[in-house]
Amino acid sequence: MAPTTLENAFSEDSSSTAIIVPSKPPLYISYQRLTADVKAFQQQLAALGVTAQSAVSIALPNSYEFIVSFIAASWQRAIAAPLNPAYKQSEFEFYIDDLSSAVALVPKGAFSQDAASVRAARKYKAAIAECFYNGKEVVLDVRENGKLAGESNKNVQSAQPDDIALVLHTSGTTGRPKAVPLTHRNLLRTMKNIQATYQLSPKDRTMLVMPLFHVHGLLAGFLAPLASGGSVIVPLKFSASEFWGDFIEHKANWFTAVPTIHVILLKNPPPNPKPRIRFIRSCSSPLSPKVFHELEKAFNAPVLEAYAMTEAAHQMTSNPLPPRKRIPGSVGIGQGVEIKILDQEGNEVAQGEEAEICIRGENVTKGYLNNPAANASSFTKDGFFRTGDQGKKDPDDYVIITGRIKELINKGGEKISPIELDNVIAQHLAVSEAVSFALDDEIYGQDVGVAVVVKDGQKLNAEALKTWMGERVAKFKLPKQVFFTDTMPKTATGKIQRRLVAEAMLKKEP
Ligand code: ATP
Ligand code: MG
Repeated sequence: MAPTTLENAFSEDSSSTAIIVPSKPPLYISYQRLTADVKAFQQQLAALGVTAQSAVSIALPNSYEFIVSFIAASWQRAIAAPLNPAYKQSEFEFYIDDLSSAVALVPKGAFSQDAASVRAARKYKAAIAECFYNGKEVVLDVRENGKLAGESNKNVQSAQPDDIALVLHTSGTTGRPKAVPLTHRNLLRTMKNIQATYQLSPKDRTMLVMPLFHVHGLLAGFLAPLASGGSVIVPLKFSASEFWGDFIEHKANWFTAVPTIHVILLKNPPPNPKPRIRFIRSCSSPLSPKVFHELEKAFNAPVLEAYAMTEAAHQMTSNPLPPRKRIPGSVGIGQGVEIKILDQEGNEVAQGEEAEICIRGENVTKGYLNNPAANASSFTKDGFFRTGDQGKKDPDDYVIITGRIKELINKGGEKISPIELDNVIAQHLAVSEAVSFALDDEIYGQDVGVAVVVKDGQKLNAEALKTWMGERVAKFKLPKQVFFTDTMPKTATGKIQRRLVAEAMLKKEP
């Protein structure tokens, strides 16, 4: 029978390897072992008073502890709320209180500074549990309540398909982050879609590089591979110097990451003999066609760009595996979801025309938490979710994202796509990275600003760049101001926030 909740999504009695922690020496954890640890941890959560739809904040880094606590919370019908362990006290306070979490899980030992700030943030209202893996089992250690949690069989719950299993916040690229509830049904649909798109099987081994506190790492990097019976290699965090060593030692054959990480890996290529990579997935930010080609050449593997968002429990579209074609600059086709390009009234536009990308499917959230205004404007009358992204379809239904509706630069009514400009400027040989954004302008309302990181040892000035761009884009798209910078501000997952780049650049001398 097909699984309907995370409770039956994994092969519980298999002795094959589920998780590899690339520590020295490495930990190899079988599916059986994982199941036993999850069940024990679930009983400890039950003993702490975690029950149906209680929130469990998980402020742990990528680790076996995170994995066990996430799965255990979902099996206990609770809502897992992963948080970036690098948050500061006020951020912990906001997120933990926003969900009235029953318990906050924090790391032990080396991370005690974070534990301390979570504790301060909670003002001792919720149970704070420190957890760690002692080589045998994940140990919960409830400190503030003065005693260990113990175990309770009595209050153990069983998850239902429409229970909320996960709450994550959007990245806040276009405004304040929004809380997105995702049910077991939502998550399982995405897991199936990802499995089908990449034909994941028990033979696959993936290196997790993305953080588990966002849908990218959690769904594509972890849950979908696990549900396929494969193995997931879980380092504490992405490290350019250790990536290939772990990848080769543990026989990984694919990974998923944001373009920023792919660019870092291009600069830190694998040693010879090169590992055999079945495919490389890129998602969450636009992958420039230039980087796409460099990656395919350097790593001798198909690069499959996908398109995802928190509200869709991650994946919406992806380029398919060979022999089907992949198109650089396109995010591919829908798998298990309906994708339509709709105008403001909710009517489908003609093929090739640009409008808002909208989606419908079992993976899509029912709506944001405590945000009726956003919910009212986010769905069409036919139940399609408005992504806020602008795009079009090619004749074969491949989706091309042309920008974010809120980020389009509106120069006196002329809409300019910042992604298009980024991709053009990235082709300049002296440029390592370029981000375009709207500048306030007295005459046009908005005009184009561009932040540019110049490659080491290269020289470039604004006039030379504009002249070069003038041969490639229409005159009205040329930047009014070019800002040169050594580093581009990014979010924890390597996402560009144009708003923040604009703010940072305007603080500098142009
Ligand atoms: P907020 O909704 O708070 O403004 P956010 O939209 O960045 O933040 P996420 O859910 O993390 O939060 O990101 C989803 C968005 O990321 C998509 O709507 C899209 O704009 C962008 N995105 C995802 N994949 C791609 C891709 N392959 N190419 C271009 N953009 C992408
Ligand atoms: Mg969004």
